[in-house]
Amino acid sequence: MALITKKIKGTEDVLPKQSYRWQFIENVMREEARIYGFKEIRTPVFEHTELFARGVGQTTDVVQKEMYTFTTKGNESVTLRPEGTAGAARAVLEHALPNEGLPIKASYFVSCYRYEKPQAGRLREFHQFGLEEYGTQSPVADAELICAAQSIFDRLRLKDLHLEINSIGCPTCRAEYHKALKAYFEQYKDQLCETCLSRLDKNPMRILDCKSPICSKIAEGAPRITEYLCDECKEHFASVQKYLDAAGINYIVNPTIVRGLDYYTKTVFEFVTDCIGAQGTVCGGGRYDGLIEELGGNHLPSLGFAMGMERLLMVMEKQGIEIPDFSECSLYIATMGEKAQEKAFELLHNIRECGETAETDVVGRGLRAQMKYADKIGAKYTLVIGDNELNEGFAEAKNMETGKKAKLPLDESFLDSFLNLQLSEETDTFSAVFGKDNSDVE
Ligand code: ATP
Ligand code: MG
Repeated sequence: MALITKKIKGTEDVLPKQSYRWQFIENVMREEARIYGFKEIRTPVFEHTELFARGVGQTTDVVQKEMYTFTTKGNESVTLRPEGTAGAARAVLEHALPNEGLPIKASYFVSCYRYEKPQAGRLREFHQFGLEEYGTQSPVADAELICAAQSIFDRLRLKDLHLEINSIGCPTCRAEYHKALKAYFEQYKDQLCETCLSRLDKNPMRILDCKSPICSKIAEGAPRITEYLCDECKEHFASVQKYLDAAGINYIVNPTIVRGLDYYTKTVFEFVTDCIGAQGTVCGGGRYDGLIEELGGNHLPSLGFAMGMERLLMVMEKQGIEIPDFSECSLYIATMGEKAQEKAFELLHNIRECGETAETDVVGRGLRAQMKYADKIGAKYTLVIGDNELNEGFAEAKNMETGKKAKLPLDESFLDSFLNLQLSEETDTFSAVFGKDNSDVE
């Protein structure tokens, strides 16, 4: 019995009282995606296993160790998406979107599934927001993508988040680099973990991303990709930096960043913070010029990033960044008697129709308990209706913050009167807090 009231390890619930936090950051992301010209794509939560094996890459941790894969009753192997890029890329190909014009700019919100050891900032079900841009090899696109991520963090008022960028070259320059890496790691064959040993031949760059302390220690002394970049990749990387400089974005070049996907090329980047412990990467992305071809399409240079929503919220909480709760109740109407309840219901209906949050008693509480409840839900105004009020045709609205009271007519002019009252008192508080000049307040 206990099983059905316990969630699966590594998953989290977002309860009604917390969801405004998610909605706030999601709205900022949606808004920023719109400003940068990205439109949302929604893809299924599961796909053919083969898609991720190819799209994420056989030698990655995700594919080798972390996927939720199962065989269906129809004997197909399907996998819960471990990330958002492969599904989006599949949809782009399946619907032949490149025929409709380039670039294709898509944004997504996805839940992701990875069988990892649950810990702070590492879950088995987590959520990502991402942007993808298909069909451009211009460094302007790399810079625009990074700017979009930076704008989101700026709007959310995140502090102490640094951007680290690198170039991991193209298949041409990487062939030389792989040789050098292989020669280097071969000296430490007896110390590398088993997974890294298996990567030595297929994709030695993956070893640079290994989380085992011994492998990462060895990786510190490995040759750097930056010394092996071909002219074209060098130039691309320099251009990306030029555009970032032009936009006033701060970054550092970190030659050890290689990122998790196998098909990353050229630019890779991460936004990292020290404030939430070991899992400090909030956003990761880069270019994957070979991905679409790997999935069976024509050559279509592409790029994207994904940010972890849970980690982002952790940073905001840690940094004490206040998130406004727009779901607060504007008006709570307390009632005494059935007639009053009917009147309240009529008024509430009018108020709700114009988009304000309004509530009344639905559990049969007495007047005092209703007022206590109104206070608990943070109602901005309360109104009590009983026989007296019904007879007089007026009721007093109380501003719960200031204690100020105002009489409102209980007829067809109620809605206008309430909205006016709210407006006039909001302006009061507004100028009290921000002064007369409110030009810099959104
Ligand atoms: P890490 O190095 O932390 O394992 P990753 O390289 O596997 O990250 P990506 O595949 O690039 O991560 O995913 C992008 C973002 O998604 C990460 O930067 C992080 O914010 C978030 N993320 C990844 N894995 C998890 C997880 N298991 N739980 C919560 N968030 C995650
Ligand atoms: Mg990982």
